[in-house]
Amino acid sequence: MESIKHPNLDPAEFFNSVIDAKREKKEDTTYLKRVINLKDNNAQKLKDYSNSFSNNNIESLSPMNINSQIKDDLLSLYIYGAKPFRDLIQNLNEQNGGHEIAKCPHCGVNTPSTLDHFLPKTVFPEFAIHPLNLIPCCPNCNGHKSEAWHRNGERACFNVYLDKEPDEQFLFCDVMIINNIPSALYRIDGYLVKDKELYALIKRTFSILHLIELYNKASDEILKSLRKEIRHQSRNWKLSQDELFDYLLDCYKNEPCNDRDNVYCTALLNNEHSRNFFKELLTSKKI
Ligand SMILES: [Zn+2]
Repeated sequence: MESIKHPNLDPAEFFNSVIDAKREKKEDTTYLKRVINLKDNNAQKLKDYSNSFSNNNIESLSPMNINSQIKDDLLSLYIYGAKPFRDLIQNLNEQNGGHEIAKCPHCGVNTPSTLDHFLPKTVFPEFAIHPLNLIPCCPNCNGHKSEAWHRNGERACFNVYLDKEPDEQFLFCDVMIINNIPSALYRIDGYLVKDKELYALIKRTFSILHLIELYNKASDEILKSLRKEIRHQSRNWKLSQDELFDYLLDCYKNEPCNDRDNVYCTALLNNEHSRNFFKELLTSKKI
């Protein structure tokens, strides 16, 4: 999970710009009039979200009691890929260093090709297009998160706009050797994390998004790139094999402690069996 900066857009202006881009529907001649009315009728709800966001307690918001027509109209405003939402993603990119957000901030594995409604739009259609409620997300995480927004009144999933990962390590990895090839077995543990509520939130998020399973599945790529790095370094340095592994271990010490690449590479370089695996590859020049 990686915290990112939220979009810097005025929610009311954004809401109105989405409605201004709407056209009358031949099969529903009162549609345009109805959605234009939403500009005034939904304005207070947008302010309520922004205030709760500022106070970091969006879970305290209660769903609005509305008829199915208004619900459908509000939901019709969200069309991923439509220009206002492309502009929103552009704004997010600008807020976050000016380059494309390449990885899903929840899993760090897949491409964020969707927007997650942090408060689900099926429960809160009034926030279906609130910019602070729209978070870049991969389809996998989005599908797992679905309508999970609170657990017993507490935030169900880490909010990458509001929550910050702890500095202490909570992601760990063991190495298993299967058919002579190292394999990752990730796990989380909060014993080092001082903020226990934050760790509980991370634990819920890992469970809801199935992150451990995803990390284990995606670990082969990390092994491949470490093999590449070892090959590259072994050509450049006149170090013994163990000295080379120790040198690489030292480099990983400066990386973020909960980065899944770093955690697995460190485990591989610390493990006697995987060291032997790399040594055999180096000796037989198969690396
Ligand atoms: Zn993801």
